[in-house]
Amino acid sequence: MTHLEQRLAAAGDLQHRAEGLATEQFLMELVKVFHSRLLVACSFQKESSVLMDLMLRVDPNTRFVTLDTGLLFPETHSTWERLEERYGIRLEVHRGIDLEQQRLLFGDELWRTDPTACCEIRKVAPLTAALSTVDAWVSGVRREQSVERRSTKRLAWDPRNGLWKANPLAGWTERDVWHYIREHDLPYNELHDRGYGSIGCTHCTLPGAGREGRWVGTRKQECGLHREIPTVGDF
Ligand code: SF4
Repeated sequence: MTHLEQRLAAAGDLQHRAEGLATEQFLMELVKVFHSRLLVACSFQKESSVLMDLMLRVDPNTRFVTLDTGLLFPETHSTWERLEERYGIRLEVHRGIDLEQQRLLFGDELWRTDPTACCEIRKVAPLTAALSTVDAWVSGVRREQSVERRSTKRLAWDPRNGLWKANPLAGWTERDVWHYIREHDLPYNELHDRGYGSIGCTHCTLPGAGREGRWVGTRKQECGLHREIPTVGDF
């Protein structure tokens, strides 16, 4: 069996056991399977604070990436800085084309005229570039966050990016997240204290419970980064 086949078999085995493992145990096994070819995505919402703390306990060399859309809240930048300072790390940063270039190519306020295209340019394409160097990525998505996320698996194949995607906090409740943040006195995005349940770009985020403050007045629910699919056996 080649090294690649061994990794595929190990990932498949972990996928089938993932839902029954405690979060720390799942992360330990995840790191064992993917080791340095694992990238953790951070959006600096409350789940990112938890995920960063958990991952660094398991593997101090964890690689983190963030997507700087150029339209992040000052509070999000502040959270980014405080987390880097607390853990003595530097995140990898990926960006889309600059905003002026976007305006020249697609017109003013693409986030209003075509938010799906705007997310594709500012989030999805930069993430795709970031993921080209790894075999698995990790997100803070939780099933409780929305109807669309209800079927999120702890570990699933991500066909769009051609790699594995882990959601270690899939089964965590909002209460679990806040309990962990307070128990470990973690830095977190202060916008949560001002009624923002979910936090994205300045132009597309309002206060609201859960994800109801995102893309208000449109039918858009997701930026396109998290397209969940069934387990391998369900294809
Ligand atoms: S959340 Fe809004 S501003 Fe940010 S990339 Fe998507 S459409 Fe553009």
